[in-house]
Amino acid sequence: MMKALLIVDLQNDFCPGGALPAPEGDKVVPVINSIMHYFPLVVASKDWHPDTTAHFGAWPKHCVQNSWGAELHPGLRQDIIHQVALKGTGDRDEGYSAFEASNINLEQYLKERSVDSLYITGIAIEYCVKKSARDAVKKGFHTFVVRDAVAGIELHRGDVERALWEMVHAGVMLVTSADISQG
Ligand SMILES: [Zn+2]
Repeated sequence: MMKALLIVDLQNDFCPGGALPAPEGDKVVPVINSIMHYFPLVVASKDWHPDTTAHFGAWPKHCVQNSWGAELHPGLRQDIIHQVALKGTGDRDEGYSAFEASNINLEQYLKERSVDSLYITGIAIEYCVKKSARDAVKKGFHTFVVRDAVAGIELHRGDVERALWEMVHAGVMLVTSADISQG
């Protein structure tokens, strides 16, 4: 059994001080740092939008390519990230799921490395984490969401709980960072 860690969109714009923040986005950084070394393979996705995109009709401008807001949170350990997956790169491309990355084919990348279990962390629970997790299940991975290593935006009250329920209903398993460190 080969497992990989997926860190979704842990970028400045999704953390406090950014353009579209999860209120506790920065709190997951030390949790993710503490579990990374349990995984032989670590992939980080990045929202990576052009300056003008249809996506900004629905959302405040965020994670523009090569901007500060698109950089990974400076507290995140980046020395053991093996691959970055860039998504939302086109001008009509929402790019919620890491499996929509345009610089690599993430499914193929993971399967070529015999990954069968994918552990998902990052931001935001209701959007990119949820879409990535549901895609992972559809593509046949044992899919886990690390509950204390994901943060939500909670635009509307109850969004986070609803998203977690939808993921579990779709076949995602919820675990904690303690489950991982205790094997
Ligand atoms: Zn976006």
